[in-house]
Amino acid sequence: MSAMPSSNIRLSAGEVLFREGDPPTTAFILEQGQVEIRAQQRGRHVVLGVLTPGAIIGEMAVIDQAPRTATAIALSECVLIALDRGQIAERIQAADPIIRTLLQGTLQRYRNALLAIQGRAEVAPPNTAEEVSGLGKMRLESQLRSALQDGGLDVRYQPLLDVSSGRIAGFEALVRWTHPERGPISPAEFVALAEETSLIVPVGEYVFDTACAAAREFIDAAGRPLFVAVNVSARQLREPGLLQRVIDRVDSAKLPRGSIKIEITESQALDPIVMGGFIELCHAHGMKVALDDFGTGYSHLTQMHQLAFDTIKIDQAFVRSMLSQPRSMVIVETIVRMAKALGASIVVEGIESEAELDVLRRLECDYAQGWLVGKPQTKQELLHNALTLFA
Ligand code: C2E
Ligand code: MG
Ligand code: MG
Repeated sequence: MSAMPSSNIRLSAGEVLFREGDPPTTAFILEQGQVEIRAQQRGRHVVLGVLTPGAIIGEMAVIDQAPRTATAIALSECVLIALDRGQIAERIQAADPIIRTLLQGTLQRYRNALLAIQGRAEVAPPNTAEEVSGLGKMRLESQLRSALQDGGLDVRYQPLLDVSSGRIAGFEALVRWTHPERGPISPAEFVALAEETSLIVPVGEYVFDTACAAAREFIDAAGRPLFVAVNVSARQLREPGLLQRVIDRVDSAKLPRGSIKIEITESQALDPIVMGGFIELCHAHGMKVALDDFGTGYSHLTQMHQLAFDTIKIDQAFVRSMLSQPRSMVIVETIVRMAKALGASIVVEGIESEAELDVLRRLECDYAQGWLVGKPQTKQELLHNALTLFA
């Protein structure tokens, strides 16, 4: 094998690129010529394939770091490009863990088949920690899909207090999943999993259906306007017709349009043009949109500056420390002032104490949400206490 300028490699006919048993160092792209892949089978050479330009060679060993399972020999003058092992490893590390698990599983099966052909069948090694976690994710995803079909999901409603009047103004709908073996699973875990695929779309539709029906019952029990806020992931906004389906549900439950609010929970960066278009459409149909968890992750000043949100929800991370750390208090005060100047209403999340609620009164915030006001509860629990709750 002779090295050429750059990463090109030139082989003459009969030259060996790598041998069975060699440690994996590099993968190659065949640019010119033909390469034969052969393996030993009971003392004889078996040709596994003849590769032509455009083929990748030696990538298997680079992916799973196992010794080469075959020998590669040039059948004619060949030119190859060497691919850096570190570069491939970096890309594999950055890939979806489920894709990595599927890749490892496929490779392992191919290697086992090769060993069987060679009469050297071995017991398959146990799954690596990575494979176990990838399989766990796949299992959970498929169980979530079944839960969605079999009625295994549920929605809880957390009350929001109108700070100036001291009355309940509405609720936030929060999805729940009680796993048959693991018990309750946090939405932080399964919503994130559903967001990785289009599974979040039917989950979201289920929450909208349930929340619209509940909003009707809450309003009837209270005898006055109330709203239910529904979380919508960035992934759902890309789904065509989402808003129309929401509006159809709101109308068929005979709800005023403003009684369902949409909370954008951004766990992934989203194109501001997509989000801006969505907000405009919501406004044209009389629907209100909130920016959730403001101040953390992808929920930040750029959105507040570019997009006409009706409500800003300040994340509980600031509230946790606003009474003990003056810096947090300054941040909360400043966000409240900014949101007001932009004409948005403000919800502060995670209010657990009277002292925290007093701050919201002083800052003239619109709504308080948190355990002090009420934990997420079932619709039945809330309706049971309707007389005191909606007083
Ligand atoms: P979020 O929208 O910010 O919801 C508020 C979370 O804070 C809820 O957690 C709620 O139970 C919790 N919380 C409320 N008050 C307090 C408090 O005073 N103290 C503390 N320590 N926590 C409080 P939950 O129900 O676990 O939901 C977590 C996240 O999952 C939600 O955060 C939301 O981003 C997402 N999520 C929930 N339901 C849905 C849904 O139907 N669709 C989508 N896309 N995401 C959802
Ligand atoms: Mg929310
Ligand atoms: Mg929030």
